[in-house]
Amino acid sequence: MGVTRQIKVGILTAPHIDLELREHTFLLKNVRIGIGFHWDRHEDQEFEGQLEIHTNADGTQTAINTLDLEDYLCSVISSEMNANSPMELLKAHAVISRSWAIRAMEHPNHKGFHVCADDHCQRYEGLKRMNERAIQAVRETAGQVLLYTDEICDCRYYKCCGGKSEIWRTCWEDIDVPYIQSVECPYCGRVSAKTLRLVLNDYDQETKDFHDWKVTYTDEELDEIVNSKHPGIGHVMALEPLHRGASGRIDSLRIVGSARTEVIGKELYIRYALSKKCLYSSWFDVQHANGSWTLTGHGWGHGAGLCQIGAAQMAEEGFSYKQILAHYYVGTRIGFAAE
Ligand SMILES: [Zn+2]
Ligand SMILES: [Zn+2]
Repeated sequence: MGVTRQIKVGILTAPHIDLELREHTFLLKNVRIGIGFHWDRHEDQEFEGQLEIHTNADGTQTAINTLDLEDYLCSVISSEMNANSPMELLKAHAVISRSWAIRAMEHPNHKGFHVCADDHCQRYEGLKRMNERAIQAVRETAGQVLLYTDEICDCRYYKCCGGKSEIWRTCWEDIDVPYIQSVECPYCGRVSAKTLRLVLNDYDQETKDFHDWKVTYTDEELDEIVNSKHPGIGHVMALEPLHRGASGRIDSLRIVGSARTEVIGKELYIRYALSKKCLYSSWFDVQHANGSWTLTGHGWGHGAGLCQIGAAQMAEEGFSYKQILAHYYVGTRIGFAAE
């Protein structure tokens, strides 16, 4: 442990940042969260640590918050999941969020800061959803990371696998990441409504029936959605899954249009193409009959790595955070990051 790591978080970029400085904290107004996803919205958020307002080349401003990594994690785990979740879930989340963040600090995804505050990186929504339990989970796992051989794992996670998790190449590069394997997850399918109220944050509770879902469009609705995302396709005549990953998530989809045909992938692009915002997942079957399209699907999110709702259910059933991590990240162990 020892050395304090400082993480730089880019919270928002706007033409003009509306902020209020308080005694020990600052409030940022109209922070956009869930960008591009179905829970996309704005909220005011309060933070601690240092604030820097950077002016970009195009005249916009970016709010950058620098703080201790462990403090950042207290907010992340209570933004990703409810801070009233079972302690073993919070501890598992602290370990994977720390592992992911340390990798991102070494190889930033962004210019000018290490991570953004939204789902693109990890949710970091400031102080309002945090409590003593989140702080306890971070403290009790202080410095712990997930290792595969001697390397810190790229711990991806998502809300619900839908019964089976996915492999790396369905979502990102064409590589095999040995600890991201397709594992059976019976847990997210038997979570109770009561547990969901406990483990999901306020706005996530608006998402219903994510384990097994159905979306229906008329021909006209689908044409409008697809052409708004992929202009010039024309009337959609067929949606043909060309390839599926290990869970069943489609990573290559042919859209046959009256004007042209396009093959799209990977999973996230397919989710964007077939929804005004974003489908819950790319694991679905397609039916077309009587002028309407039905997508029957499973899961919420990309599916690679830890299933947050499955992990919450494991914690409810008495599994330890180490058992939870060993289930979703195959062949890994807990260790400490090299200074
Ligand atoms: Zn990001
Ligand atoms: Zn699951």
